[in-house]
Amino acid sequence: MIFTGPRPRVLVPETTFTSFVLQRAEQYPDRVAAVDVDGENGYTYGELASAVRRAATGLHARGFGKGDVLAILSPNVPAYPIAFHAAAMAGGTVVVLNPLDTADDLTAHLNESDARLLVTVPSEVAKATVLTARTKVEEIIVFGEAEGATSFSALLADGVPPEPTVEPEQDVVALLHSSGSTGYPKGVLLTHRNMIANVLQTSLVAPLGEDESVLAVPPFHHAFGLIMTMNASLLQGATLVTMPRFDPEAYLKAIQDHRTTRLYVVPTIAVLLAKSPLVDRYDLSSLRSIVSGGAALDPGTAELCRRRLGVDIGQGYGLTEALVSFMQLANPVAPGSVGPNSPNIECKIVDITTGDELGHNQDGEILIRGPHVMKGYLNAPEATAKVLQPDGFLRTGDLGHVDEDGELFLVDRIKELIKYKGQQVSPVELEAVLMSHPKVTDAAVVGVPDEEASEIPKGFVVTGEPLAPEELMAFVAERVAPYKKIRRIEFIDQIPRTPVGKIERRSLLAREHTVQ
Ligand code: AMP
Repeated sequence: MIFTGPRPRVLVPETTFTSFVLQRAEQYPDRVAAVDVDGENGYTYGELASAVRRAATGLHARGFGKGDVLAILSPNVPAYPIAFHAAAMAGGTVVVLNPLDTADDLTAHLNESDARLLVTVPSEVAKATVLTARTKVEEIIVFGEAEGATSFSALLADGVPPEPTVEPEQDVVALLHSSGSTGYPKGVLLTHRNMIANVLQTSLVAPLGEDESVLAVPPFHHAFGLIMTMNASLLQGATLVTMPRFDPEAYLKAIQDHRTTRLYVVPTIAVLLAKSPLVDRYDLSSLRSIVSGGAALDPGTAELCRRRLGVDIGQGYGLTEALVSFMQLANPVAPGSVGPNSPNIECKIVDITTGDELGHNQDGEILIRGPHVMKGYLNAPEATAKVLQPDGFLRTGDLGHVDEDGELFLVDRIKELIKYKGQQVSPVELEAVLMSHPKVTDAAVVGVPDEEASEIPKGFVVTGEPLAPEELMAFVAERVAPYKKIRRIEFIDQIPRTPVGKIERRSLLAREHTVQ
């Protein structure tokens, strides 16, 4: 059966992403749109609309337009939305990159996407310069000033802003990255319509008042940061307070200083808010609501936050390929549920061996369909065909069930993916790094459950000669982004495999449970 959820369908406007998000910006020109935690750099909605237009005009004058790609390699800073929307308004695609990724990862992403312009922050210019030598990037544009880069303010130009012909259903406005059900990160193509639909869906389910202040910690290069934190806030006229990197004390102080009303958090931050004694040192009375995403929010942690901070707390469930698909906030739902489908979203639960559609309370793979589901993976028709079915349903690789009230419960993950503090870690990628060590003869990586991090990447390793776990972990750490580090190693005699050679991750995980 197809679960449609209780929420009424809505009309997804046939327009461009930027005109949709900034549609009301000029109705409240003096309200602050974005500011950094120090309160030093910021701008109003009037200034936002004008800067987007002028930067789009400048990009157009440089020959940037439909079919062109601009990359942003930046932590969350106030100018991020201006760069994003300027490129979108000029008709281009924005590839949003994770500054923590290695130069090799970033080179691959830039080359695949064919990006010619790279927008970054002064602290990343050295890295960006290395990347230009290995890619087709022709110009580095920097927020602020840095040697060897064009200042973003030099891009701003007067004149008639570009009005490219955009087909919202076809044209890709954002390119994010996800390893999907297996393998290395792939480019996820999101059209104007995908993005509009999801910003609208999430705004309806977790609305923000115009007087609200949002602490923007979830990275803008991830769907949770880009859709819910950045763009849904701007659509609704709230103030974004950007924080480039998470630090517990600075975070709590920012809530106090900026009178933050809405937090978007990964479960790791929810644990801090629920349990840390630091929380009592700050005045967090301005908080009204917390939306968690990226990994499972423990119901006990949610309840502790609710009681300790007097807030509504809920969670969203989604994936880069299907953005934020299920969500609950103010309406009380059963503990552990991610709520019902957001508007215009259909869901099916299918048996993982037969593919048969299942009914209420039966566990199976979750499939999702709706206007927000990605167009496909970049240059990867086979990987796309594996997840995107001809009838438009996307296979999520997650296992769960829908109860009689239409609420979804996640129970497990079928795909090869580890979530460390809300960030994606691909076990296949780590296994390749382990195997590149001369003493390693076989290896498997699984995510072991952890209260704070959600999961921790652990390597099970077979070696020909003695090897210290610390040495092997250091070997991996030198070769991968910091959030992908292997944090535990266990040496074993043999990696359990199926007759066709596939790693039996479940039995490794079961072994982990027995050992602890
Ligand atoms: P990403 O593409 O990085 O957003 O990762 C998506 C994956 O994170 C999903 O397929 C789930 O496995 C997991 N995930 C996201 N939100 C939740 C949630 N609320 N509860 C459990 N798992 C989640």
